Amino acid sequence: MENRPKKRIFIGLLVVTCLILFFFIFLLWYIPMVGLRNIHSSLPFLFTLVLAIFVFVMLSGGLLLVFTILSGKENFLSQKLRGIVAKVLFPFMILMGKVMGVSKGKVQQSFVELNNHLVRSNSHRTRPNRLLILLPHCIQNFDCQIKITGNIRNCKGCGKCEIKELVELSDVHQVKIAVATGGTLARRIIVENRPEAIVAVACELDLTTGIQDSYPIPVIGILNERPHGPCINTRADIQKVKEAILDFLGPEKVMGVPSKDV
Ligand code: SF4
Repeated sequence: MENRPKKRIFIGLLVVTCLILFFFIFLLWYIPMVGLRNIHSSLPFLFTLVLAIFVFVMLSGGLLLVFTILSGKENFLSQKLRGIVAKVLFPFMILMGKVMGVSKGKVQQSFVELNNHLVRSNSHRTRPNRLLILLPHCIQNFDCQIKITGNIRNCKGCGKCEIKELVELSDVHQVKIAVATGGTLARRIIVENRPEAIVAVACELDLTTGIQDSYPIPVIGILNERPHGPCINTRADIQKVKEAILDFLGPEKVMGVPSKDV
């Protein structure tokens, strides 16, 4: 998954949306001017002031977002920006993507990349026992008869799927791990475990809704690989999962190295 082109999709759509929005704001400003002047001479000024503040806030927010993405540095609004991207901008970007012929899947992937970037630039740190690895059920080998939803540690570690390696990874870093069959179970797992941060593996649709639903909990989303098509024998990039874990735990908590605040 190439990071840069995907983030660019979201930023490109954002810029086009802003330009269109500014055009409509101009119309909104220009058209009622004549009528307002007839009501009171100071109303056009007040109306202009309100719209100017609105445009300023939007422009500053957009520039701050682009700056955060380009610099990769944390700023005092990083967390809020993540929320605005997830809750406000994303639905607009899907709509704009439709208008501009960018597929929903591509916009979702772009959103996940952008979210990951913002989470990482925010330098969230958590204790191992408050970090949750959340996996989709389709990673389990389709022919495996063992029930791992509810308790992933029922896995016998035969190695036919990546559940074995992921459980080992969670053991090494002493972080929680769970499998969800869908959004409802995923939400229940999150409520029960009360994680401070989540590393989620899923398809772009589930990652997108998961990131939105979990806000303000920071989520690093890792897109699963689907060599056999969607929802069957999918795969996770173990290296990416490991990197995401270390992003949350910080270098001082790498495998077996005791940390002062644990
Ligand atoms: S690694 Fe675990 S979950 Fe996967 S097929 Fe083997 S026993 Fe089943």
